[in-house]
Amino acid sequence: MKNDSNLSLMLGSYLLRKAGPTAIARKRQSRLNELVAFARANSPYYKDLYKGLPEHIEDIKQLPVTNKKKLMAQFDEWATDRDVTYEKVQKFLDAPENIGQPFLGNYRVATTSGSTGSRGIFLMDAKTDAVAKAFGTSFILSGLGLRHLPVMFSARTALIIATGGHTAGNSRLKSGNTGDKPNVGKRQLFSVHLPLAELVSQLNQYQPAMLHGYASTIVLLANEQEAGRLHINPILVLPTSEGLTDREYYTVIRAFRANVATFYGSTECGLAAQGCRYHWQHLTSDWVIVEPVDADFQPVASGVQSHTVLVSNLTNYVQPILRYDIGDSILMRPDRCPCGNPMPAFQVLGRVADILNFPAQDGTAVKITSLQLSTLFDSVPEIQLPQVIQTDSTTLRVRLLIAKEANQDQVWQKVQSEINNLLRSHKLEHVQVERATEPPEQAMGGKYREVIPLNR
Ligand SMILES: [Zn+2]
Repeated sequence: MKNDSNLSLMLGSYLLRKAGPTAIARKRQSRLNELVAFARANSPYYKDLYKGLPEHIEDIKQLPVTNKKKLMAQFDEWATDRDVTYEKVQKFLDAPENIGQPFLGNYRVATTSGSTGSRGIFLMDAKTDAVAKAFGTSFILSGLGLRHLPVMFSARTALIIATGGHTAGNSRLKSGNTGDKPNVGKRQLFSVHLPLAELVSQLNQYQPAMLHGYASTIVLLANEQEAGRLHINPILVLPTSEGLTDREYYTVIRAFRANVATFYGSTECGLAAQGCRYHWQHLTSDWVIVEPVDADFQPVASGVQSHTVLVSNLTNYVQPILRYDIGDSILMRPDRCPCGNPMPAFQVLGRVADILNFPAQDGTAVKITSLQLSTLFDSVPEIQLPQVIQTDSTTLRVRLLIAKEANQDQVWQKVQSEINNLLRSHKLEHVQVERATEPPEQAMGGKYREVIPLNR
């Protein structure tokens, strides 16, 4: 593993992109072959999973699919380093003084609650962090544009993260390893758990040039800016971890009059794609393979919504992620994006895990996606943050954060009638819609989830 400096990795990616799609595909294939060979030789899990396969893999589709549940169940066998065990990493995670420290002296540890609720423990080696940092630096550079380049070296960045535990952001900060965030300029940490008014007041004081945080929090801050309580002038806004709907994306642009740089990525797959100004994600990484597939893991055509996505992360050798079912539903753009970027473009349409099941009156099952519910709120601009929880098979509890100046009862009636219309169109008139008195609540790790199905 040589040539892992930020600059050489950035230069490598740049030259590869210049060389064109065929060169990128060739490089990706050789990286895949190298990782598959390493996994077969050093991970008992992959050795067993791939035992009937030919020695040389020509097409990634030859590899069986895996997922978080399977990998967590065989944690010790999955790792390529025989010193890594579930018991050791559990013990490591239980001691608060270890936050940000490398596990076994070599690996960064991050835990995820994930939208499916099952806990994931992921180890990242030095190569993974180096590639993520190189991607992050080019990402911020292109988001700022040449005109604002000096800002990157002098400006204040506000990082709004969950300050606690071993989330990816926190473990990087505590270790001084900034991961995908470049080591330049000044940075200040703000806890996502702060009451909104307090966060607004601290940001007013700090006046960041770059604002970096969970997408849902950025949307709340955009509302605060529009309401005149937040007064900041960032040049670049970077929403992380969750996707923004089109409406939210344009709200953030309007509120801050800033460049908004979005990306698609996760703890498991790293940073796989970069958003353009038309709010499409362009595959940019030569280190990640993204396959949109149907429920039987067969490829879906461009222009067709996928059931899920299989990702292969070609950077991480300690816990190889190969054809891993990540649970996102995406749509590949069939034509060329008007922004001019020739790399394939897609939109993230929601998590397949977020499907609500209801019993119909005739006993059949009816499914509603979280997106169908969350998009209802798009037509009610007074809502700053909605949250719908399915508390039993026929009850939806609705928590709303409504703009203070709006008439709360009127907003509620609007929401109630929207949800009832959706339910009626699915023949689910018997499903109750409850108005909650409590505000939306954060999940572990500080994220707000708009829709929470039963048993999640
Ligand atoms: Zn584009």
